[in-house]
Amino acid sequence: MYKKVLTNALLICGLGLPLVAQAAEEVNLYSARKEALIKPLLDQFTDKTGIKVNLVTGKADALLKRLQSEGDNSPADILLTTDAGRLHRAKEAGVLQAVESDALDAAIPAHYRDDAKEWYGLSLRARVIMYAKDRVKADELSTYEALQGEQWRKRICIRSSSNIYNQSLVSSLIAANGDEKVETWAKGMVANFAKPPAGGDRDQIKAVAAGVCDIAVANTYYLGGMLHADAKQQAAAQQVVVFWPNQEGRGTHVNVSGAGVTKSAKNKDNAVKLLEFLASDESQKWYAETNHEFPVKAGVAVSDTLKAWGEFKADTLSLSKLGELNPEAVRLMDRAGWR
Ligand code: FE
Repeated sequence: MYKKVLTNALLICGLGLPLVAQAAEEVNLYSARKEALIKPLLDQFTDKTGIKVNLVTGKADALLKRLQSEGDNSPADILLTTDAGRLHRAKEAGVLQAVESDALDAAIPAHYRDDAKEWYGLSLRARVIMYAKDRVKADELSTYEALQGEQWRKRICIRSSSNIYNQSLVSSLIAANGDEKVETWAKGMVANFAKPPAGGDRDQIKAVAAGVCDIAVANTYYLGGMLHADAKQQAAAQQVVVFWPNQEGRGTHVNVSGAGVTKSAKNKDNAVKLLEFLASDESQKWYAETNHEFPVKAGVAVSDTLKAWGEFKADTLSLSKLGELNPEAVRLMDRAGWR
């Protein structure tokens, strides 16, 4: 009672003071995406809406741990990460909440968001085969499955099984082919490694350019980044060609960066507004131009770099499955000796 009177009194006295309005208009974002790859968009959002975005960046697993330990007291309103597998982990950890938004439903296809609407994909990445243009011909390639073939003995570079992108790729293979076949496949892959897995996707692409291996499996935006980096990286990237796997079948494996509103969100309305902004045409175009990712939203124009790789059919597997099958994928790669 006293509290209410006091609040009302403060509100009346405070009328006209900009501090009152400003304090409410903010949103707190925990982002596993590097600052350079999100901040310009957040600034645009603030310019447009007047809502201030407080950005905390960190590794996905560390941010998730932090959310869990902060519990209801967490200042975070949104968690943003760069893989559906990690978004699923956050959901399983119980730190997200469902969001209803007609704008998000309209912009983002159902298979790029969580069935229970606890997270939404915001940019699309394709994990493809890249080959040395002077040592491999496109017609030698077809599917991820075919990479286990003997003709690729000691010719493939791919990063370790601890990498979530590989875990998600293997999850998609399990969804399509079942455990048993994929374990045989993973053993074949390991036999075909040119070297023990090490480094990131860019390192695999560089290894192809340097002749260490003839094929790499990597996300296309890394190649896009190299094509726009220093002369040395450009030269390496130009030795390598994108091949879209599984075009005759289910389509190329894709994944998303995405975000969900936290269970503890104190600024839920602003959080939903920010997600809607990130799914808007202008933001979708920005991802495709700045980070060489694909829009999740259909009909958004892409850059010349992306156009040069040609159009492709993407696997329409619900990305929730990548998270659900993740533990199985990890165990399977371990059994196959994929380090
Ligand atoms: Fe990445």
